[in-house]
Amino acid sequence: TPLIIPRTAHPISRSMVSPNALRVLYRLRDQGFIAYLVGGCVRDLLLGREPKDFDVVTDATPGQLKRLFRNCRLVGRRFRLAHIHFPDELIEVATFRALQADDDTTETTGGGEAASPSPEAEPAPRPPRHLKSDEGMVLRDNVFGDPREDALRRDFTVNALFYNIADFSLIDYAGGMADLEAGVIRTIGDPSVRFIEDPVRMLRAVRFAAMLGLNVEQETWRAILDLAPTISRAAPPRLFEEMLKLFLLGEGEKSYQLLRQTGLFAPLFPRFSSWLDTETDGFPHTRVSHALDSVDALVQQGEAVAPPLFLALVFGEYLEESAAAFRQGGASPQEALNQAVAGWLGELAPTVLVPNRIGMQVRDILSNQQRFGKMPGKRPQSFLGRPGFSAALAYLRLQAEMGNGGEDVWQWWDRYSRENVVELPPVDATHEGAPP
Ligand code: ATP
Ligand code: MG
Repeated sequence: TPLIIPRTAHPISRSMVSPNALRVLYRLRDQGFIAYLVGGCVRDLLLGREPKDFDVVTDATPGQLKRLFRNCRLVGRRFRLAHIHFPDELIEVATFRALQADDDTTETTGGGEAASPSPEAEPAPRPPRHLKSDEGMVLRDNVFGDPREDALRRDFTVNALFYNIADFSLIDYAGGMADLEAGVIRTIGDPSVRFIEDPVRMLRAVRFAAMLGLNVEQETWRAILDLAPTISRAAPPRLFEEMLKLFLLGEGEKSYQLLRQTGLFAPLFPRFSSWLDTETDGFPHTRVSHALDSVDALVQQGEAVAPPLFLALVFGEYLEESAAAFRQGGASPQEALNQAVAGWLGELAPTVLVPNRIGMQVRDILSNQQRFGKMPGKRPQSFLGRPGFSAALAYLRLQAEMGNGGEDVWQWWDRYSRENVVELPPVDATHEGAPP
């Protein structure tokens, strides 16, 4: 039986919940369904942080949700989720899900808990309850569960709390309240089993510890140390997305330290990691920490940092060094950079798959640095008008701020671009940016 925390014993009030999420919850409740807030939003509200988004779970089936909400779209092939669209917000509504359903939600926006654990890691399958959708279609793999099962299949105790709209209480099946109070991130169940099921959970543990200032509970920590090398079993595109979340949400430096301490960093970035452990001209490579500090400072000021700029900052020195080697082999500066970037994308592809489009933006940021040295050089107006100009200028500025030189060059171009350009293309703040 779960622990029930009545409204009088917890601080979450409805005024903290998005009005759209409340509309969804009330609607479900009024139709006789169970409706809970769940996951990150409940955890964040209890920690006094503003939730990124509000997720709902219910016993209404996807078909029932579709009929209940006009602004509803069903997404996900294997496990269908409802996206309820409001003008300014998307509320994700999931039907309670059973324990061992073969999770596959990468195609949805919410969380992307796409485990495809290796065959030997999968728990013995339980006969699926071949449910029929309201349309009469058999929903294969779509194994619904009850609230308890839905809570216990989640990753960490602090992520499994429900906020019940029926009486405004919290429902705690996994001991999440006690762990939140103790400031601890702990898997639900045996950490080794849970990390073998889905290695990405190890990165999530690091991210939550860094972002929320929690400590990783001992057994959970030990299991990560033990299983860190298996992180490379996760799907490379998913690892790229997780990397962005680790580094671009305001606690990137702390995440980096934790990744190094847990042994997760080396299997994600094998070559880069050994390079970091060496010295260049007798100096250790400390730029990564500094770069992440300055990215964190920007993010904490509310300025989003686009993935190409972040990658250029973190891998810039590594790429420059590799380009220098190609130049010594006789390549032109541009060719050398192209080869360095291509080699880097190739070496990362088996673990952290950087989309090619983003790799090309990284290359442009770095190759534009050479152009900055000429003030103003040939056809400065067309340089200013290039899509990559503002990202390249931001790179130059951050390098200068980090004490890596180029203050005067940056100041010159900063003034020049202000005086000569009516409209600068914005720094691409999403990772869906315009093609180069
Ligand atoms: P964030 O603030 O980053 O969104 P979150 O906890 O909401 O944090 P999501 O990735 O949005 O994280 O996932 C929502 C919820 O789904 C989680 O709180 C957790 O309960 C569950 N979940 C997500 N990923 C996994 C996973 N890999 N394994 C098990 N449960 C997961
Ligand atoms: Mg979330």
